[in-house]
Parts: sequence; C-alpha cells; structure tokens
Amino acid sequence: MKNIEEKILKDGMILNGDILKVDSFLNHQIDVKTLRAFAEGVKEHFAGQGINKILTIETSGIAVAYAIAEAMGDLPLVYAKKSKSATVGSDVYTAEVFSFTRGVKCDITVCDKYLTAGDRVLIADDFLAAGSAAKGLMRLCEQAGAKPIGLAVMIEKRFQGGHDALVQAGLDVFAGASISAFKDGVPQF
Ligand code: 5GP
Repeated sequence: MKNIEEKILKDGMILNGDILKVDSFLNHQIDVKTLRAFAEGVKEHFAGQGINKILTIETSGIAVAYAIAEAMGDLPLVYAKKSKSATVGSDVYTAEVFSFTRGVKCDITVCDKYLTAGDRVLIADDFLAAGSAAKGLMRLCEQAGAKPIGLAVMIEKRFQGGHDALVQAGLDVFAGASISAFKDGVPQF
C-alpha cells in the first residue's frame, strides 16, 4: 500500500542492518488513519474466507489486530501472552517462539476458552521477518483444532524468509508493505 511505503521511507530507521524502526506510526506512536486504511485492505483481501477470529501476539500486534477485527465486523480478537516460562496447565495452549528483535526464546500461551475447534483464524501482526511468531500462533491453532487461514502484517521483510515459509505451510499472507531489501540504508519495495 502506497501510504505505508511512503511512511516507511519518510520515518523508518534501519537498526543493526536488519531491523526497521518505525516508532513514529506503528511501534510507539500509532497513526490510526494508516492502521484503518490497512485494515480495510485486509478486509477486502480476506473477504469470503469465513474468518471468525483474529489472533495476535502481545504487545505490538494488538493495535494492528484491533483495527482488523473492527474492520472485519467486530470479530473477537485474542492475543497470545508471552512469558519466560509458561505455567503450563491443562487449560492453555502453548508454543515456543524466537524473538527476532530481542534474540531470545519465549513461550506464548492462549487459554483454551478463547481458541476452539472450528475457528477459522486470521493471524495478525505488525511485522513479518523470519516467521517464528506466526508459526508459534499456528501451533496454538493446531492444538485447539482451529484452522489458521491467513496472516496479515503491516510490514513484511520479504528477504528474511518468513513469507515463503508460511505460504509453504498453507497460509495466505497479506502485507501492507513488502520490503525486498535494505539497500544502502534505504528500504526497497
Ligand atoms: P518473526 O517472528 O517473523 O521473525 O518476527 C516478527 C516479530 O518480530 C514481530 O512480532 C515484530 O514485533 C518483531 N519484528 C521483526 N522484525 C522487526 C522489525 O524490523 N522492526 C520491528 N519494529 N519489529 C520487528
């Protein structure tokens, strides 16, 4: 989407050669209008696929998922919680994910009340990099007997492998902006 690409070019900063900092509109201050326009694009893309639930991961996925849940008709939104070591009980689904930005592993959990067999799930997040977060959310769906249909992310870094791996795993992947490379400090689309 042109408006997201323009914002990335105007405000984005590349850290450590592979992380894009977009605090001015997504990860610290949130531009609600941009988020709403993205959510409309997601709604159009996934129309007719019978999606009944939006699933994300705390913290930065929540705002993006909220905009999508609202645009798609006030769908229920569930966010997986992160913990260093999950208190695994019979009432939670759990999966391990690797944090791209922090370089550490953590467990994510969702209570079994909120993800159930028959759910047709759209996974949402702010960024897609190597795909660990989305794969972890897919594993939670599998444990629940829910079907992950697609992944909607505001920004994907296509060169970090997540997109291809998730398409191969059967997800329909939609990105508001798709970065093919960082070249001389400038994101390429
Ligand atoms: P993945 O699990 O796909 O490797 O990474 C996606 C997760 O890591 C997202 O939830 C996002 O919060 C974080 N992330 C990955 N790359 C970036 C990036 O370039 N910028 C920011 N702000 N977050 C990122």
